[in-house]
Amino acid sequence: MAISRYSLPALPTVGEIIRIYGLKALRQLSQNFLLDMRLTDKVVRQAGVIEGCHVCEVGPGPGALTRSVLCAQPASLLLIEKDPRFLPSLQLLSDAVPECVRVEIADILDFPLHDAFPKDSSRAWDDDPPNVHIIGNLPFSLSTHLIVKWLGCMANRDGPFTYGRTRLTLTFQKEIAQRLTAGVGNRERCRLSIVAQAYSDVRHRFTISGKAFRPIPKVDVGVVTFVPRIKPYITQPFPVLNTLIRCLFHMKRKTCRRGLELLFPTEERLERTEQLLRSADVSPNTRPIHLTLPQISALCDAYVAACQDNAMIASYNFRDERRRTQTVRRVDRIINRKRFRTSKIRSDDI
Ligand code: SAM
Repeated sequence: MAISRYSLPALPTVGEIIRIYGLKALRQLSQNFLLDMRLTDKVVRQAGVIEGCHVCEVGPGPGALTRSVLCAQPASLLLIEKDPRFLPSLQLLSDAVPECVRVEIADILDFPLHDAFPKDSSRAWDDDPPNVHIIGNLPFSLSTHLIVKWLGCMANRDGPFTYGRTRLTLTFQKEIAQRLTAGVGNRERCRLSIVAQAYSDVRHRFTISGKAFRPIPKVDVGVVTFVPRIKPYITQPFPVLNTLIRCLFHMKRKTCRRGLELLFPTEERLERTEQLLRSADVSPNTRPIHLTLPQISALCDAYVAACQDNAMIASYNFRDERRRTQTVRRVDRIINRKRFRTSKIRSDDI
């Protein structure tokens, strides 16, 4: 499907804009610009039909992807960019399509997306997705942090998901895109894969060679779409899943029993883990990457039952215990060293 171009008046090209405004890419904001309009059009096509929709673009930079979004004729386009140097070039686009574009110089991590779109675009969760889209060629330094935050919002149906099952079309370093979509048994499967797939239908649509960006990054880039699931695989609250998979994947290469043991204080570890695996009907020898989402859901249910049985379990964190043990060991070492020194002095005295 070709994107119509008739809605934008003649403008300087993005390359010219970069030259005119002297926009040097800043490494600290992970700025790598995508200037090939065939590729930016292709990214926008992955979002589906956005004509008449309310779109938010994260990190528009000099505005190449923005132009492709505008050519697809959204009802409105909100641009959230942290770097104020891009304001004049984005203002050009805003002047070209006045009623449509709003530019905000802000950090996406702090921006109140729950309030960013017209209220009447909201849809019930079990309805079709709303006419609200988020698109972005994300900075590498922010992408994982941002998607983890948004997956948490998906679970709680807040932030951009206040409007219903808002769709996301985002770029990631190719390896992260592969992790997000890694299926059962895939060596790349990790915490990120579980959380992304539990709450959304996540797809790695295509890969863009790093050579297409300016400056050229050392990695290729994956374009990934997320559509929140009506019924997530995990029904327990997000922090329960987070705690469970943190322990599970702490020992990714071992059997799942080893990781799950970390959920419980040492003294009741073996018994509780056995009970957990039995109630979830999971074989103790399964490797974490081979666990299916229904199995992880069953483990979450069994873990919540264990927490209800003994409230101490919910607040237990194996890292605290490890830290305590390490501190005790360190203190022991210092004491022993002192003893050694004192004994040396005594022998010298003799
Ligand atoms: N969209 C442009 C393109 O495709 O050429 C630029 C993409 S560049 C990889 C990432 C953009 O995100 C930069 O313009 C950068 O300034 C912006 N950015 C970085 N951190 C941000 C943040 N926390 N909030 C909003 N924008 C951010």
